[in-house]
Amino acid sequence: MDAFHCPGAVMFLLKGKFGTVIHTGDFRFSELMFNSTFLFPENKRNPEMKGISIDVDYLFLDNTFADPDYDTPSREEAYKILVDIVKKHDKYRVFLFAYNLGKEEVFMNLAEDFQTLVVVDEDRYRKICTMDLKPELFTTKVDEGWIHIKSIKDLKKYDIQDCNKEAPTIFIIMTGWNDKYNRNLPFYFKVPYSSHSNYRELERFVKAVMPMNMVFNVPDRAMSKRRLEFQHHLINSYVQKNTEKKLNDQPVLYNPKQGYIIRDTSRSS
Ligand SMILES: [Zn+2]
Repeated sequence: MDAFHCPGAVMFLLKGKFGTVIHTGDFRFSELMFNSTFLFPENKRNPEMKGISIDVDYLFLDNTFADPDYDTPSREEAYKILVDIVKKHDKYRVFLFAYNLGKEEVFMNLAEDFQTLVVVDEDRYRKICTMDLKPELFTTKVDEGWIHIKSIKDLKKYDIQDCNKEAPTIFIIMTGWNDKYNRNLPFYFKVPYSSHSNYRELERFVKAVMPMNMVFNVPDRAMSKRRLEFQHHLINSYVQKNTEKKLNDQPVLYNPKQGYIIRDTSRSS
């Protein structure tokens, strides 16, 4: 199933002796996921979309932003924020900083909405061609477009004042991390466009799946109180307990220092 993360990202549904397992990998929840009749059969639909999945024994969840402090807007809203910034600076060159993979849909939409080629480096261009993501919207020649995609890792290499001496330039950083890449500079913008689900989307997904057990894929994130409370809320509200199908071994343990960890059950078998 499409994980709506970066191109090629998928979620796995596994069935075997170990039971039924969903592994989200990295994912951004989309209402379109409910169209999957594999996971959410039509006869289980209800108005709240609660507990509509096939019986899932384990849900491995991308909890990157399972924290009310990361209340990123939907992709559509975030894209609107981005477009508004670009429109307000229509005489400017745009340096758009993103990770090396992901958010290609943003670049394609910008090319179409602003009727321009988007400038990328050779490496990114090769990837776009390989993934067949409309390479005709992109160029590697810097003078053929005014929207330039840069690697977020190279942000330090660019001085915004020096760039503005060359040509009027704005920097836009696309990330869901509200505690990273913060600079208080003129012509510097951050857009909370994220490839991971926000906490409201995570709740919607977990509520729909209602697994028997849940494992957080990212146990070692800095543990804020709000994150722990929210993750605990997900488990308490939507992880089914004390049912016959409940596996004998409780695999998800709560540990405030380490987050949620899986007990090693291999020795007991
Ligand atoms: Zn990822």
